[in-house]
Amino acid sequence: MIKKLIRKILGTKDKSSKGGRNTLVVLGPEAHGIDPRLLSNNAVRVTSTLQEAGYEAFVVGGAVRDLLLGVKPKDFDIATNATPEQVKRLFRRAFIIGKRFQIVHVMFGQDLLEVTTFRGTTSANAPKDEHGRVLRDNTFGSQAEDAERRDFTINAMYYNPANQQVLDYHGGIEDIRARTLRIIGQPEARYREDPVRMLRVVRFAAKLKFSIEPETGAPIKVMAPLINNVPAARVFDEMLKLLMSGHALACLQQLRKEGLHHGLLPLLDVVLEQPLGVKFVTLALDSTDARIHAGKTVSPGFLFASLLWHQVLEKWTAYRAAGEQTIPALHLAADDVLDSQTEKLALQRKIGSDMRDIWAMQPRFERRTGKAPHKLLEHLRFRAGYDFLLLRCASGEIDAEVGEWWTAFYEGDEITREELLNSASQPNREGAAGGGAKRKRGPRRGGRNRNRGEEGGADNAGADAGRDSAD
Ligand code: ATP
Ligand code: MG
Repeated sequence: MIKKLIRKILGTKDKSSKGGRNTLVVLGPEAHGIDPRLLSNNAVRVTSTLQEAGYEAFVVGGAVRDLLLGVKPKDFDIATNATPEQVKRLFRRAFIIGKRFQIVHVMFGQDLLEVTTFRGTTSANAPKDEHGRVLRDNTFGSQAEDAERRDFTINAMYYNPANQQVLDYHGGIEDIRARTLRIIGQPEARYREDPVRMLRVVRFAAKLKFSIEPETGAPIKVMAPLINNVPAARVFDEMLKLLMSGHALACLQQLRKEGLHHGLLPLLDVVLEQPLGVKFVTLALDSTDARIHAGKTVSPGFLFASLLWHQVLEKWTAYRAAGEQTIPALHLAADDVLDSQTEKLALQRKIGSDMRDIWAMQPRFERRTGKAPHKLLEHLRFRAGYDFLLLRCASGEIDAEVGEWWTAFYEGDEITREELLNSASQPNREGAAGGGAKRKRGPRRGGRNRNRGEEGGADNAGADAGRDSAD
């Protein structure tokens, strides 16, 4: 802080940041143009309670960035000079969480706000792993130090709802206006401290449609393998944010552009390198993005089941070719895929079991006679399995007619369902794919319904995939 003050007085530049960017700029409401109606009442409640108790308190990070872009933030983080204990005392429902660095969760009904005490800059003595990744760094600090350890200039601004001022320490406003994503400090050093920031570059560039400042982007290709040293649970959290950002498809395309799809995560290798799965994955991500934009829930299980389906298919085929029965072969394939991913990706057990359920249901959709379809309807996760089936149809993997039959069966009354069961049990009936109902067939090439299925089914899947699968 003192060093910075001297630098400011002498007009010298900080070596760690280009062009004297670390000069505090204070902007009033006319200059920043934030619409105060985009602010949540609870965020104002938290900052004013802290301020009335004599502390400094600001909205910080992604919320300020979104406010400046005219977007309603999805959540609000608060930064303060009060310690976690001091924060906790001021609110009825406040919980201190975190071991490495304590933060406070303040709850109002369902609404959760994260309150963080200003953090000090990473000290040279902070414990690191052998690649330079910072393991623990728990010191409190000043606001200027807090700004310096944030990731990007656009994420390091503070907004005080009381006087409507924005405090910008690193030229964030300029970068917002130029739609530029710029890391704070020396890029290599910042990626080394925390390699997850490379994934964050990709997520924000794709989500905000910002260009990556060349020096921020340059080291990523070379440094990408450092992600492998990050604990799997953290990588998983960041991947989930990426996939649930409402711009999953754009994010994956950006990963490819940055050369991050090689060796970064086994999941991405699988997803981005298998030509057969591209259409399926594209449809799945499209429908996920559409659901997020429509304010619907997305189930991580459905999402990961989709991303890895073609890998399962490949192994399923191999096991059957080696003489396994259809169902055991599918379970073996699912085991293989889940095992190979959990090592690096720390898929939580619940997500893994959701994925397995969705995959295991698929052969059951081929049985369209007797009691089997009624039984399948009663499956707890039928909706997710059915949405998944529609994606398979839409991608051309299986005959669209199967999906159409199930849509009619699912939506139909008892009489319609009886008729459908009868039609499916007459193998020679034209167009009913009755034989396919009983016996597994390979993918049809140029089948009657295939093109229709790709168009109609894609819409269908886009609207419905994953619905109710977050139960
Ligand atoms: P989103 O709107 O997608 O949540 P966000 O910017 O709020 O974006 P979060 O992951 O919620 O992203 O992080 C909140 C803030 O914490 C960021 O804006 C940034 O200032 C800081 N931050 C988060 N992760 C890092 C990191 N790995 N390194 C440095 N600062 C970080
Ligand atoms: Mg956030």
